[in-house]
Amino acid sequence: MPGHQITRIPILPMGMVNAFIVRTSSGCILVDAGLPDSEEKVAKALRGLGLGFGDIRLIVVTHGHIDHAGNAARLRELSGAPVIIHEAEAKYCAREEPMTFCPTGPFGRFFLRTGLPKADYKGFKPEITLTGNDAFQLKEFGLEGEIVPTPGHTPGSISVNLSNGQALVGDMLASGILLGGIALISRAKRPPFEEKPEIVADELEAQLKRNVGTFHLGHGGPLPAAEVRRHITRLRKLAA
Ligand SMILES: [Zn+2]
Ligand SMILES: [Zn+2]
Repeated sequence: MPGHQITRIPILPMGMVNAFIVRTSSGCILVDAGLPDSEEKVAKALRGLGLGFGDIRLIVVTHGHIDHAGNAARLRELSGAPVIIHEAEAKYCAREEPMTFCPTGPFGRFFLRTGLPKADYKGFKPEITLTGNDAFQLKEFGLEGEIVPTPGHTPGSISVNLSNGQALVGDMLASGILLGGIALISRAKRPPFEEKPEIVADELEAQLKRNVGTFHLGHGGPLPAAEVRRHITRLRKLAA
C-alpha cells in the first residue's frame, strides 16, 4: 500500500502547531484538526498533494485541546469524514466539561493566563470511539497501521502508529522552545501542559517497544527514538 506519505500542515508557522495528512490507498486521513477557522491551511496542504476535503477518509483527533480538536466539527462538515477520539476525551470534545491544564513551566503558566488554551470551540460527538486500552486498526481506511491509546498528556490522548515505524503522537511530547517549534527543534521537551508525566514516560516506552522510530509532534518535531529515550529519562527524574 502506498499509504505512508506524511505531510505536515502548518496550522501555525515554524512548527508551533502542526496537524498531519497521511496518504492512504484511496485518499488520506487527517491527524488532528487544528485551531478553529484554520481550514484554509488544511485545504492548502491537501491541494499540494492534489487532494481536496472530499479525499479525507477519517479525522483522528489526538486529544481535546483546542489546537488539536478546535476545528474538527468544521472539517467534518467540509469532508463528510468520520471523527475518531478516545472515550476518555469525549466529554471535553463535546464541550460538556472544561479541560484541566497542568502547566509544565513558566511558559505554560503564562499561556494559561492569556486564556487562549481555555478558549471555546465548536463541540462535537465522534462517529468512532476508542475504549480502554484497545487499539483501532486502520486497514479499512487503506492504511497499514493502528491508533493506540497513549494517555498521560490528557486522559484520552491517542497516537497513530504506522507499520513503517512512523508515529503521529500529538502532545505526548514536544520539541523546540515556548509552545514548541521555532528553534532547538531536535531537543525533546514537555508540552506547555501535561497531566501525568509518569504515565507519559510509560507510554513513550511502550511506543519504543512497538518499534516506533520517528515521532511526529503537534508542536515541533519530528524526533528520533534516541531523543525520545533521553526524554523518558528526564521524565523519570521528575518523579524521583
Ligand atoms: Zn495538548
Ligand atoms: Zn497541542
